[in-house]
Amino acid sequence: MSQKNPSNDQRCSFCGRKGTPDNPLLSGINAYICTECVGHAHDMIAEEHRKHATANLPELADLPSPHEIKDFLDQYVIGQEQAKRVLSVSVYNHYKRLRYNSERSNADDVEIEKSNVIMVGETGTGKTLLARTIARLLKVPFCIADATTLTEAGYVGDDVENVLVRLLQAADYNVARAETGIVFIDEIDKIARKSENTSITRDVSGEGVQQALLKLLEGAEVGVPPEGGRKHPEQKLIQVNTKNILFICGGAFDGIERHIANRMKSNVIGFNSIKEKEQVDRNNMLQYVQPMDLKKFGLIPELVGRFPVLTHLQALDRQSLLRILTEPKNALVKQYRELFKMDNINLEIDPDVLDLVVDHAIEYKLGARGLRSIMESIMVDLMYDLPQKKETSTFHLTKEMAKTKLQL
Ligand code: ADP
Repeated sequence: MSQKNPSNDQRCSFCGRKGTPDNPLLSGINAYICTECVGHAHDMIAEEHRKHATANLPELADLPSPHEIKDFLDQYVIGQEQAKRVLSVSVYNHYKRLRYNSERSNADDVEIEKSNVIMVGETGTGKTLLARTIARLLKVPFCIADATTLTEAGYVGDDVENVLVRLLQAADYNVARAETGIVFIDEIDKIARKSENTSITRDVSGEGVQQALLKLLEGAEVGVPPEGGRKHPEQKLIQVNTKNILFICGGAFDGIERHIANRMKSNVIGFNSIKEKEQVDRNNMLQYVQPMDLKKFGLIPELVGRFPVLTHLQALDRQSLLRILTEPKNALVKQYRELFKMDNINLEIDPDVLDLVVDHAIEYKLGARGLRSIMESIMVDLMYDLPQKKETSTFHLTKEMAKTKLQL
């Protein structure tokens, strides 16, 4: 195909118009097409792709119900009942919305809007684990992005649109499918501005990124660099419409308890609600989190408004940490047993070893995140030495041995 000199008499074979400098003709073997018709053709093909993607949406009857989604999460994630319920409903509603909106024939019909979710919970309590586990079950493209790498355009770091690159990859670059996907953005609290009062100087790390993110959450046609990274002028961008993409965000929001407590204190003044005050569970303030607390923390109100669903994760107590070591489908203890089994060794671990590990994890204040490294310190020498034995055997790990390995 080549571009023809617009001064000749050829006409567009589609609309019949002559070529002009504003609307030049492209020539094929036996036909011509004007640039406007190329644009129309492109839009029509994109629309067809979109229809095709939504026509391939699974039937509601084939989708896991909220109860089934939660049952699945229960196999991998300990506790966090509220977050599990909220996520199960959100994902199910996401499917319903996609189906309903694709079948909506009349523009006057109700349009079901998406409900982006924000999860607040200390580090190592299972936010990313919940997102990853849900991904295994999903029938739409899914990706996890990290808010800490994002910066405002013009600064070193990634453009906000980069959160969609992974989604495109998850959808094999089928844009229409990516447009029905779910994005999990981790560490959303890291783009909070440092104080609620806007200062005269621009807050580079925070507010600019939040504004850019807002556009994505609201639903917009955005240009995504296919390979990620910074956009540059010559680069061809992939246009993605984010209207139907569900965003789930997670963050630790360190110190938000202070804002929650302050708000609750000022709320109860004048209500003579000493009783109410007494019932406040001071050890788990996150359960009272409200959108205004996120605002106080440093998220801009417009962004907070784009997350109609707010849920929290509980800090993990001793009992939960113990359960995490042994109960989930891929619990650490089960993983070590399998590793040992491959060397014909039957691994037995005394319960007080697990108590010791949990004590340490609590001391490190890393939630369940600390469990793995502590177990690893105990097991690494054993895993180094034991495969040398050729015969089938049983290895019994006692608390004394574990203490030695941890140099206690
Ligand atoms: P974060 O809340 O910081 O995103 P993660 O989900 O990354 O925490 O948790 C780190 C690791 O700790 C997980 O990979 C998992 O092994 C374990 N873990 C954390 N919370 C739970 C939980 N509620 N149930 C089971 N395992 C958990």
